[in-house]
This record gives sequence, C-alpha cells and structure tokens, in this order.
Amino acid sequence: MTDGKLRVRFAPSPTGFMHIGNARTAVVNWLYARRHGGTFVLRIEDTDRERSTQEAVQVIYDSLRWLGLDWDEGPYLQSERFELYRRRAEELVERGLAYRCWCTPDELEERRKQALAEKRNPKYDGRCRTRTEPREGVRPVIRFRMPETGTTAIQDLIQGEVVTANEELDDLVLRRADGAPTYNFTVVIDDHDMAITHVVRGADHLSNTFRQVQIYRAFGWDTPAFGHLSLILGPDRTKLSKRHGAVSVLQYRDDGYLPEAMVNALTRLGWSHGDEEVFTVEELVRLFDLPDVGKAPAIFDFEKLRNKYNAEHVRRADPGRMGGLLAATLERLGIARLTADDPRLALLTGGLRERSRTLVEMAEASRPLLVEDVAFDEAAVKKHLKADAADVLRALGERIAALAGFERPALARAIEELAAARGIGMGKVAQPARVALTGTAVSPPIDVVMAVLGREQVLRRLEAGARKAAG
Ligand code: GLU
Repeated sequence: MTDGKLRVRFAPSPTGFMHIGNARTAVVNWLYARRHGGTFVLRIEDTDRERSTQEAVQVIYDSLRWLGLDWDEGPYLQSERFELYRRRAEELVERGLAYRCWCTPDELEERRKQALAEKRNPKYDGRCRTRTEPREGVRPVIRFRMPETGTTAIQDLIQGEVVTANEELDDLVLRRADGAPTYNFTVVIDDHDMAITHVVRGADHLSNTFRQVQIYRAFGWDTPAFGHLSLILGPDRTKLSKRHGAVSVLQYRDDGYLPEAMVNALTRLGWSHGDEEVFTVEELVRLFDLPDVGKAPAIFDFEKLRNKYNAEHVRRADPGRMGGLLAATLERLGIARLTADDPRLALLTGGLRERSRTLVEMAEASRPLLVEDVAFDEAAVKKHLKADAADVLRALGERIAALAGFERPALARAIEELAAARGIGMGKVAQPARVALTGTAVSPPIDVVMAVLGREQVLRRLEAGARKAAG
C-alpha cells in the first residue's frame, strides 16, 4: 500500500446541490486517505461556466464541513487553470495526437442521424482527422485522436477488470469552439498534475475512464489506480432520486441529523464489517478500506438512517455537544433561545436522547417545556385529567411546594410518596401530572419535566391542570 503517499481527490461539479451520491464519494475518499495517512484533495470542476454557480460552490464547502470531511489541499478551481489546459491541448495537436475539427454542430447532427438511420455507430466519423485547411468563419474544436483498434482495460479496485473495444470510443472533444476545455481532458491533466494516486468515483464515470486512460497514454503518463463505486439505489431498487426522499446533504443537517450518522450510513453503502452497523467516525477511519467495498449496487435506506444510525448516534453523542446542537435547533425552529450554559439543556438532552431520533424531534419534544402556554392534547386530557385527578394534582403541588431543594431525585420521590400515601399506582399520579405539565401524555421522564420547568411553573401548571380536571 502507498501509505503516506496516497493521494485522492473529491472533484465535484458545482452545478446544483450536493446529493447523497456525491457525499458518498467524498466520504469514501476521505476515509481512504485518513486510513492510510494520505492526502485528500478538493478540486472544484467548474469548467462549465454557464452551469457552475458560486452558490453551488459554497454548498460543497458547507456540506463537506458539516460532514467533518476536512481537505488537506485545495480547493483548486478548474476555472483558474484554463491556460494550462489550452497549452496541453496544443501540445497534443503538435504531436499529431489531437486535431482541429471544423465540422459544425448542424453537420454533426445531420451525420449522426444518418448513421443511426443506417444502423451505424453514430460516433464522430473522423472527417477532420486529415484536414489541415481551416474553414472560413468556423471556429474549430480540438478532438482527441482515439485509437481505432485494440482494447482498453482497467484493473478496477472495486469492479475488477473492465475492458472495452477502442472502436466504441469516439474522437472526443478536448476543447470546445469557445475555448472551454471539457471534463474528460481537464480531469486527466489535473489528476496527473496533482499527483493523484487513486481516482475513486461513481461507476457512472466508468465509460469516461476508458477515454481518460487513452489520454494518459497519449501524454506518456502513468494512470492512477481506479475504483468505481457502484450506483446507489432507493429502497425500491431503482436509481436513487428525489422521489425516494431528501437527497440533498444539507437537508439532513436541517432535518436534525448528526453528521456522524450520515457518514456512518454513507460508508455502509457497499461496505460492512461483520454484523456491526453503527460506527463512530474514528472506528471507520480504522476499519474502512477501499478494496473491501462491494461492487453490487447499494440501497440507501432512509428509514434506517433515521431509526437506527441517527437514533444511535444521538444516544452516543457527547452531552455537551448535544446541548449546543439542541440550543441551535430550538432557536432555528423558533421554539426558544437558550444560552449555551443553560442547565435545562443538559436535562433535556439527558431526558430525551433515548427517545428522539433527530435533533428536530428532540426540539419538538422540548417545546411544551419551554413555551409559556400549555397546548393541551384533548385525548390526553380526557383520559388523564378526570375529576378525581384534581385532588391528586393539588396534593402533589403541596408536596412540591414544601420541598427544600428542586433536584430530580426529590421530585421523583414526591410522586412516589404521594402514590404510596394514597394507595394508588404511580401512574395515577404521574400521568395526570404529565398532562397538566406538558399538555400531552408522552413526554420526557416526569422528574426531568419538572426540573426543566422550575418550581414556579410546575405549581402554576399543576393548579391549572387541577382546575381543568375539576371541570
Ligand atoms: N466532476 C465530476 C462530477 O461531479 C467528477 C469527476 C471525477 O470524479 O472524476 O461528476
């Protein structure tokens, strides 16, 4: 293994949002680099000036930062390297390995249609391969002179050996008429210049890789190793798309997911380690390796991301960090503004981490304890705030008013002792109290609820609940 010298890159095109497929490619490259002490390079492939936007570039940075995928080099911007690509294309023309082509788009379309009608391969027919005279008024493109015979083989780290006949490959355009270089050309120049040792990307690029290998050969360069990650499917086994659920990485941040849960789920696409499913990022760095990634298409399971990976990481996350994240979520949702040192944050995260799958769920479960007015769930009122509860709630209020401190154990004891004194089950005290204090029959543990609300609110709400119960 090329430990220490391993260099990988993530090379997104900033033409939209960062989706699950991109993020998975980024995660795999990052883990591979970290595992082997290598270098993770970020390169923004913004040669398509019409489709690339600054906003989309920012989304890439934000998504990577949120996921915790720090890059060691870059970002390199292809838009700043046009002169270099221009010189490299000229070099190939001078050496006879590329040529200028004056065929116009209309002519190409015409010939393409004709080839299809005659059931021939519609690829470029090579008409300008031997032409040397410019055509008046036509700005030429530069095309690569692709070998017409033989085969191109790739020893893919994931897919195994893949081969194509060179006659399947076309004389692809390296530089457009307006001077803009094309993806297949810039990617080769950059991966070479940036000394990338392993190109790891989606299998949708496999057909490009054959072309790129030929460009490496034309320059006399060694090719990097290639690894093509299989397609990601939705739960119905069709290509993952918006129909299946949110596919934008930042949407998951906004929906209250933890980045480590996302990294966990994305890594598990096509990779496993025994029967274990939940891994910290540190564990993944230690255990993940590229050759262990399978080549079968992987299914992205949205339910499992929430119910398993995220729920589990919420449980495991450092309490201090969770407090900060909950505070940010509460503020973003307009529920409450709590300062970072507010003791209620630790009570809430501690009381809710076992039952909240996302930060948004945790914030919503906290809502009744942080807003001024209780919003009563009618079904819960009907079930638990019956006439006989009025007296229980008042008695509980008296016990709580008489407590010296306001700690959770004492609060829990107040309920237990009241139930014992009256010879009724704990639930006969706790459930009416829960509804009086939160408006609902499901909430964090009752001692947590009371501790968060504070003595004054608890007494006020118990009394209001008692009045409601008395009718
Ligand atoms: N810019 C390409 C894309 O976003 C990726 C290129 C590559 O990884 O080689 O699909």
